[in-house]
Amino acid sequence: SRRRSEKEVVMFPFMAQGHIIPFLALALQIESKKSFSITFVNTPLNIRKLRSTLPHNSSIRLLEIPFSSSDHGLPPNSENTDVLPYPYVIRLLEASTSLKPAFQKILQDRKPLCVIADLFFGWTASVAKELGIFHVVFSGCSGFGLACYCSLWLNLPHRKINDGSDGYFSLPDFEEANKIHMSQLPLNISEANGEDAWSKFQFQNLSHWFNSDGMLFNTVSGFDQLGLMYFRRKFNRPVWPIGPVLLPSESRASVGKQTEFTSMVCREWLDSKPLNSVLYVSFGSMNTISPSQMMELATALDRCNKNFIWVVRPPIGFDINSEFKAEEWLPEGFEERVKGRGLLVQSWAPQVEILSHNAVSAFLSHCGWNSAIESLSNGVPMLAWPMAAEQFFNAVLLEREVGVCVEVARGKMCEVRHQDLVDKIELVMSNRDKGSEMRKKASELKDMIEIAVKDDDEEISGLKGSSSKALDDFFCAAMAYETEQYSMK
Ligand code: UDP
Repeated sequence: SRRRSEKEVVMFPFMAQGHIIPFLALALQIESKKSFSITFVNTPLNIRKLRSTLPHNSSIRLLEIPFSSSDHGLPPNSENTDVLPYPYVIRLLEASTSLKPAFQKILQDRKPLCVIADLFFGWTASVAKELGIFHVVFSGCSGFGLACYCSLWLNLPHRKINDGSDGYFSLPDFEEANKIHMSQLPLNISEANGEDAWSKFQFQNLSHWFNSDGMLFNTVSGFDQLGLMYFRRKFNRPVWPIGPVLLPSESRASVGKQTEFTSMVCREWLDSKPLNSVLYVSFGSMNTISPSQMMELATALDRCNKNFIWVVRPPIGFDINSEFKAEEWLPEGFEERVKGRGLLVQSWAPQVEILSHNAVSAFLSHCGWNSAIESLSNGVPMLAWPMAAEQFFNAVLLEREVGVCVEVARGKMCEVRHQDLVDKIELVMSNRDKGSEMRKKASELKDMIEIAVKDDDEEISGLKGSSSKALDDFFCAAMAYETEQYSMK
């Protein structure tokens, strides 16, 4: 329960695992390091799920906002994108604005120090500001990725920019991103014309950001400056890079569908493999590839003769959460041929444990930002196969700006050839030339991240990294704002 003297922080993520996870990680970090009490707000089914996720000794308060998905043309009991087919995601976003009156009431009753809201919940800014409460947007995306994404929405229709050219174009307000190619546009942006539901939602949402007091990013200033600068310039507000904010292992297990058995199998398997010899392949919690791409990837893994762990999900066209049918979706005899050097994990793997094992040498990833930052935190170079949202731009950041990544494919429908995959896997896993350069760079990044999150007491040793300092600065700004509000009354 909340001690009287404790200031309260209200946190409100969008109802998607990829959003709830970084919010929860941040909540646990604030709880462990700062003397603030935390209230996590969400819809009933998400709160119920969170209740079983929180560590037993956590005092984070979970607060339900009433919500009925069927009132909004959504299937019954679907309050999280992990149970919704893609076309419904926009409806869930639209429906989320109906939470406004209940959220307003929560803020009125609780009068928290500040609100940390999802980047899809721009509307919460005006609610907080009307009540004189400090408000920030928390982005689980990279600065660079989100800058490209926002710039595209704010400069529709991009098609005009592209007319008659080779498919490359610059972002008018984010020239630093250099050239973006049409094939790097997420589906909702490539289809946007300004009149569709996504465009309308994003115009509204992004315009609300101008009401907010600043932004928190799950990233590190040392390698993500360009994107962070974009937001400072665009919104003229402070931007605090506080990452990487990662879930502690006890909570990770219950957030996913991870089992102790799978963890043990992976650990024992990795223990039996030489240092830097394993490729880890996973496309996150929501994405999968087409049946033909799956055949090519399997053939590449078969031919390249490397150790690998592959988190297999049913291909596009099948329920991603259903059972994996190896005999239908993989080349004949595949499992037999790769026996001993290839481990197929169905549905959910203990990703952070895998990435932190020293047998792992590279990560073939869709470049979701959580995956990327988990890989960097462990010094593991990447092969990028971005598929949706800002993943395409994360891949650009990692390859072009940071130098720890090679793109191998792009999108869920692109044609991939196994030989091309084999060549790139060998390049990145090699101990010579580009491979060793990338491994060195990745290990430098790991050190940079360790320094960024150092949080020794400043007065004693002065060892405070950029991310720890940014979190302190954010709370200072929130406290200063509160003091100012009082003095105005
Ligand atoms: N994850 C995991 N095991 C899996 C798949 C995903 O632990 O088999 C975790 C992963 O460690 C990361 C998150 O789920 O923390 C996925 O987030 P990301 O931003 O990479 O991608 P998304 O799933 O949102 O597309």
